[in-house]
Amino acid sequence: MPELPEVEIMSRNLQRWVGGRKVEHLEVVDPRVVAGGDPRLSIGLKVCSAWRRGKYAILDLGDKGHLVFHFRMTGKVVPRRPTGRARLWLRAGDREIAFEDARCLGQIWWQSVGSLDAFFAARGLGPEPWPGAKEGEWWSARLQGLRGPIKPALMRQERVAGIGNILASEACWRASVSPMRPVPEVSEAQWSALAGAVHETIEHTLAAESGDEIVYVNQGGEGSFSVYGRLGKPCARCGASIERMMQSGRATYWCPACQPLS
Ligand SMILES: [Zn+2]
Repeated sequence: MPELPEVEIMSRNLQRWVGGRKVEHLEVVDPRVVAGGDPRLSIGLKVCSAWRRGKYAILDLGDKGHLVFHFRMTGKVVPRRPTGRARLWLRAGDREIAFEDARCLGQIWWQSVGSLDAFFAARGLGPEPWPGAKEGEWWSARLQGLRGPIKPALMRQERVAGIGNILASEACWRASVSPMRPVPEVSEAQWSALAGAVHETIEHTLAAESGDEIVYVNQGGEGSFSVYGRLGKPCARCGASIERMMQSGRATYWCPACQPLS
């Protein structure tokens, strides 16, 4: 599932592919992909820029509106003619871009200009944890009041936007913090370690996964991860076996030796 780094890569790709070009054609192949508005209103408009907010990618179409993509489990934008997996495609200049989605859960909205802030406000999206470096105090304040374990808390989009299941597991490992540690018991030093770890994990994933097409781990991609999907394999830091457990219905991977609870 795409999280902040993967959506950042797709936003950069969209900018590279269609930034500055005019949308000449747009076809909704599967109407279920449209969650709001009419994406065909993009036709004839120039793509001023493409950017990311949380796990959403946005095509800025100037003073008329925006096309907003949410990829959910398996959605992705790719630079090719539409195949059987395409739910929507567009042509801008000499580029063809397809929105592919094997599980058909991704969504696209047309948002008229001026309505984007309200769109994200309605979704209760918290502030971005990146690219500006954040201090431990910032994280501690953002997650204040939560009682449960730290790993699912990191994924609360209304507190901080963009952190998903993989990033949360990886950041806890990098910070040597147990994913089970209750938020109120995270020490100052651990908040500081988590702040650095989130930033480093994002930078690492961006460097490792940049390319024209994201291959998700749940679709056979190997990923560039230290613990995620590595059940039973040795921890890169201490050699102990990586373990897996369920937290809030999602798989958490961690090293019991270097992420102890006590
Ligand atoms: Zn370890």
